[in-house]
Amino acid sequence: MRHLLAVVLSSLVIPIFAAAQTPHRVAIRAGKLIDGKSDKPLENALIVIEGDKIVSVTAGGSAPAGIEVIDLSKSTVLPGFIDTHTHVLLNGDITAEDYDAQLLKQSIPYRAILAARNAHIALSHGFTTLRDVETEGAMYADVDVKTAIAGGEVPGPRMQVATRAMTPTGMYPLLGYSWELKVPTGVQYVDGAEGARKAVREQVMYGADWIKYYSDRRYHFESDGVLHSMVNFTDEEAKAIVDEAHRLGKKVAAHAIGSDGIAAALRAGVDTIEHGDGLTGALMDEMAKKGVYWVPTLTVGVYVAPGRGGNWQKMADLQHENFPKAIKKGVKIALGTDAGGFDWKQLNQAKEFQYYVQYGMTPMQAIQAGTSIPAELLGWSDKVGTIEAGKWADIVAVSGDPLKDITELERVKFVMKGGAVYKKDAN
Ligand SMILES: [Zn+2]
Repeated sequence: MRHLLAVVLSSLVIPIFAAAQTPHRVAIRAGKLIDGKSDKPLENALIVIEGDKIVSVTAGGSAPAGIEVIDLSKSTVLPGFIDTHTHVLLNGDITAEDYDAQLLKQSIPYRAILAARNAHIALSHGFTTLRDVETEGAMYADVDVKTAIAGGEVPGPRMQVATRAMTPTGMYPLLGYSWELKVPTGVQYVDGAEGARKAVREQVMYGADWIKYYSDRRYHFESDGVLHSMVNFTDEEAKAIVDEAHRLGKKVAAHAIGSDGIAAALRAGVDTIEHGDGLTGALMDEMAKKGVYWVPTLTVGVYVAPGRGGNWQKMADLQHENFPKAIKKGVKIALGTDAGGFDWKQLNQAKEFQYYVQYGMTPMQAIQAGTSIPAELLGWSDKVGTIEAGKWADIVAVSGDPLKDITELERVKFVMKGGAVYKKDAN
C-alpha cells in the first residue's frame, strides 16, 4: 500500500507545477493494446495522454520529443474495467447474521471508512469505474465516498451511485426483531405511487445517479421448472418509481431474480435487470427488444451458494444455463459482480470475467462486457470504456495475454485513472 501511495503522490505533484503552461503529457508504449471496441488487438501501440485525457492512439510511431514514456511493451494494455453492480458499504453477507451485524454493530462513519478502503481495493484490481447500487442501510454515504474520490481526497474509481434503494414496507431486512425495537432498514421503505415519486425525488436531492428498487423476493422453483418469486411493488408503484426517475433524468436498476420479478420490472420500464437468474426465453427476447441490460453478477451467485444452501446452488446453475442463451438472443450483458455481497478482501471482482468465458463468451466479448458495454449502460460512452482519443485516460495493463488466459485480468500490474498512475508493479 505504501508503494501505491508513493506513486499517487508523485503523479499528483507533476500536474501542479505543469498546470501554468500546458497540461502534463505522457505516453504509454503498449506491447499489445485491447482497446475495448475493436475485435483484434493492436500490436506495439503508442498512447499519448495529455492531462486526464487520451489524445492519440497509433500503431507503432514514436513518442513526441521530451515526454515521459511509460514502457508497457511487454504487457497487454486495456481500458480500465467497469463493474456495474457493487456495494462499497457492505463487506460480505452470506448469512442474515453477517448482514444484520454490519447494520446493527457498525456506525455509518465506520462503514464509510471501510467503503473508502473497498474503493481503493477495486481501483488496485483495475476497476476505474463503478456503479454502486445501494448502501444497505448506510443512507447516503455512497455519495460521500464518490465525492471524496472525485475530489482527489482518497484513491478510488469513478462512481455512479444509487443511494438507498427501495422496497415496500416490510419486504427487506432488517426483519424479525421485536416491534419494540427501532432497527435500521437496508433500504428505504416506500408505499403507494405518490410515496414512490416522493422517495425518488428525495434520493435524487441527496445525490442519487440511479434509482434502484427490489422487484422481488422469496425465490422458488415451481413444477414448470421456472424460478418464480414474489413481486414486491404493485405495477402502479413500480411504474411511478420508473416514471419519476426518468422524468428527473435518472435511470433505474431493478433487483429481479425470479421470472415474476423480472417480468414486473420489464413492465415497469426499468433500464437494467440485476441478477436475473429466472430469465426465460420470452423474457430474454423482451430484454433484447427493449435494449434492457442484464447484469448477471455470477461471482456472488457461485460464492454465496454453499453458505446459503436451499435453492441458491440451483439458481447459480440456472445462471450458467441461461448465459449462453442470452448471448445468442442478443441480450446486452454488462459486467457486474455484487462485490460487497462477498468480502472485498477475499475475492478479486475481476473473477467475473472468468465466468463469462467459462459460460460462453469469447475472451474479447468478456473484455467488452467489462469495458465498452457498461460504459454505454452508464451513459458514459464518450468518457470511459475504450482507449481512444478524447476519452479519459483510464488504462490498465497485465503481463500475459488475456485472450489466451482470461484469468490474467485478475493480476492487473498497472493502473492509471484520469492520467494519474495508481499502481505500477514490475512486469
Ligand atoms: Zn447487489
